[in-house]
Parts: sequence; structure tokens; C-alpha cells
Amino acid sequence: MIRYFSTRDPHKSLVRFEEALLKGLAPDGGLYVPDRIPRLEPNRWQRANDIAEVGIAVLGEWLKDEIPPTDLEPIVRDALNFPCPLVKLSDDLYVLELFHGPTLSFKDFGARTMARLMQYFLRKRGERRIILVATSGDTGSAVADGFAGQDNIEVVLLYPKGKVSEVQERQLITQRPGVRSFAVEGTFDDCQRMVKEAFVDPELAHLPLSSANSINIGRLLPQALYYLWAAKQLHNHPQSEAVNFCVPSGNLGNLMAGILAALMGQPVHRFIAAHNDNHFFPDFLQGQAEAYQFHPTIATLSNAMDVGSPSNFERLYTLLGAEKLRRWVWGTTVSNQATLGRMKKTYEAYDYIACPHTAVGLEAQARYRQETGDPTPLISLACAHPAKFPEAVSRALGKESPKEEVLEMLYSRPTQVQTIGATLPALKAQLL
Ligand SMILES: *Cc1c(COP(=O)(O)O)cnc(C)c1O
Repeated sequence: MIRYFSTRDPHKSLVRFEEALLKGLAPDGGLYVPDRIPRLEPNRWQRANDIAEVGIAVLGEWLKDEIPPTDLEPIVRDALNFPCPLVKLSDDLYVLELFHGPTLSFKDFGARTMARLMQYFLRKRGERRIILVATSGDTGSAVADGFAGQDNIEVVLLYPKGKVSEVQERQLITQRPGVRSFAVEGTFDDCQRMVKEAFVDPELAHLPLSSANSINIGRLLPQALYYLWAAKQLHNHPQSEAVNFCVPSGNLGNLMAGILAALMGQPVHRFIAAHNDNHFFPDFLQGQAEAYQFHPTIATLSNAMDVGSPSNFERLYTLLGAEKLRRWVWGTTVSNQATLGRMKKTYEAYDYIACPHTAVGLEAQARYRQETGDPTPLISLACAHPAKFPEAVSRALGKESPKEEVLEMLYSRPTQVQTIGATLPALKAQLL
């Protein structure tokens, strides 16, 4: 049976998945990590016909002692009910499009699955929860959308005012049943700090708070699935034993999920961690920063990656340690200018429109190849739909981005939002 312990617990006390999922953050402020990672035969996911089938096989293994297969199957099918295509750009370069869910970013995979898993356990327990979520853009809308309308779950969203794109903001403040949105006068780090403080505040201890940030293990497991699904789609590639994955990174949840997929048995030669000007992790990988030498957040064009102190670093570091991380993961920092340049090059070379986050990845993988000459086929994650970032797309390409019906519809829906200061008391006033 797979159990979870907190990254900060020297005794490694173990809890069930159900508890790790419903708590989010461990009581000592640490993040839950699995005590064991099931090793799977690749044919477990290579026989799958869609990502939901990957999910049923793989999550089935992780959760088999807590959720019977007959209960898990409908949860996974309902959560992962949208496509996840691998698009070929050249003979050895592919993008995995993770933006075909309802809010058009990869966050839909984790959020939708986690919402349904939580609802499953809460119903059984006859309990309710308030999900507190700090978002740098895409998490909030995915979580709001994934959880909306569940009668035992309420959602409270915090996002940094003025630091998300107009479309992202619109997605965040769209009225949904059971969802309240707050524009915080501060940065994403402030939002994340307020959430963390709320969890340990004695005056809020009576509230059934839970988190949905990528600190929640319930989001990471479903994200591991698309790495396996991508590798399966590449199966016909002649030299596709091992692959490289390039991961546009911020809070490092997506990279952590990829590493889980690799530890489960998917051969991965190298991960490329593509960061914007928030460069702690590439510095760390190059030996130019010590663990936890974080920086304040810098605002960039790839705003969902604007994270100065990535929470999931604690998980990566606990599970792998510095040496292994530095061997397995190659990192680089991509400026705004290089991001726009790569969006333009990608359009010119492949007739492909990449969102700024995806472009950070494509620039990073190009540098990696140039520097190492590594011929391993590479899958670069396409994290969000370019239509979410119309300003960046028109700046880079000199033309309008294609319109998405889902986004157009957003503007006809009613909104709700309140502005609050970047302090715990301001948040408490709203919660109490
Ligand atoms: C969240 C997000 C990222 C960063 O992912 P992490 O898991 O925080 O590293 C990158 N791109 C987009 C579009 C995102 O929404």
C-alpha cells in the first residue's frame, strides 16, 4: 500500500492518500511525498487508446487500496474527457498539447481529477471543504471550473491583481456556483504565503480548509499520466526507447509529475526545465545557487511561470537530492525577448503558434540541443492555448491570434471579484 509522508517530518509518519489529498499541505508545513513509487511495465500504458485508459491503469495501481476500480473508472473518464494530442514539428521534435480542456491549460488535468477524487472521499465521509487556492493565472480557473457546483466544496481564489493576462483574469472572475475570487494587491508569492499562513492560523483551525495548488499530491498524480500518454504516442518513432521531455516550469509541479512518470518506469533520458527570468532552479541545477536560495518573483510574459520560490522544489529535493537532480535535469533561463523571438521562429519554421509558456520551453530545448548535440527525440510540453495570450501573440507574430469560442463566450458571462490587501488579516476577514 502506498503511503505519504511530509517532506519536513524527520520520523516520516505515514498517511493514506485520502488524508494527503484532503489536507493538501501537511500540518508541519511540508509537502506530501509517496513512500514508494510503483514500478509499472510500459505495456500497462502502451496498450491504452486514450489518456483516460492510461489513467485507469496507472492511478488504479496507485489508489488500489483506497478506491475500487469500479469507482475509479468513472471518475477518471469524466475528468480526462478531452484530447491530448502529440503534434510533430520535426523528425525529433514534438509538442504535447495539454490545452484542450475547458480552461485551456494543462491545469485542467490535475484540477478536474483532483476535484472528483476529493468529492468521492468527502461524500463517503459526509464532510465539506473550503479550497483555498493561490494562482498565478491558470490554476485558479482550472480549479474553479473543476470544482464548481459540488455541493460539499467551496472555492476561494487568490490571484495577484494586475499580474495575470486580461483573458486569464476574465476566466478567474467568471461567476461559478460555490466560487469566490479575490484580487490581491501583491505578487503570486504573497498569495501563496497568505494561503500557507491561513493553514496554520489557530483562529482558522475550525474551518475545513484544503488546498488545490500543485502542492497537493492529488494534482501531481494525474499530471504524470500525460507523460506516459505522450511516450505511448511516440511509440512508432524508430529510436523511441527513451525520450527527453522539456517542461516549461514555475512552481515545478509539472516537472515533479514528469519525474514521477519516469520513476514509474517511463524511460526518460533527460528533463529540460525551462524557466523565465525567475531563475532559481536553473541556477541551482548549474551549481550557482544552493537549495532554497529563492528570489522574489519577477513578472514576465509567461506569467503562469512567475514563481520566485517554487514550492515543489522541496519535493524534488527530498525525493532525488541535489546530485541526481543535477544529473537528470538540464535547466535554462529564457528572457521575455527570447520568448517572443522563439514564438516568431516557431511560427515561421513550423507554422505553429505557441503561447509564451510553450515558447519558453521551445527556446530551452533548442539551446539544449545546440549545447549537447543530444539526438534523443524530444517532447516539449505545450502548456496553454495561445488564444489566452493575445497581446503576446500579436507582439511576437505581428498578427492576431486565432479566436477560441470558449474564450469568446467568457465575455458574455457575469463576473464576481473583490480586491484585498496582501495580508493574512485581510484574507481572514473574508473567511470568518
Ligand atoms: C502552471 C503553468 C506553468 C508552470 O507549471 P508548474 O507546475 O507551476 O511548474 C507553465 N505554463 C502554464 C501555461 C501554466 O499554467
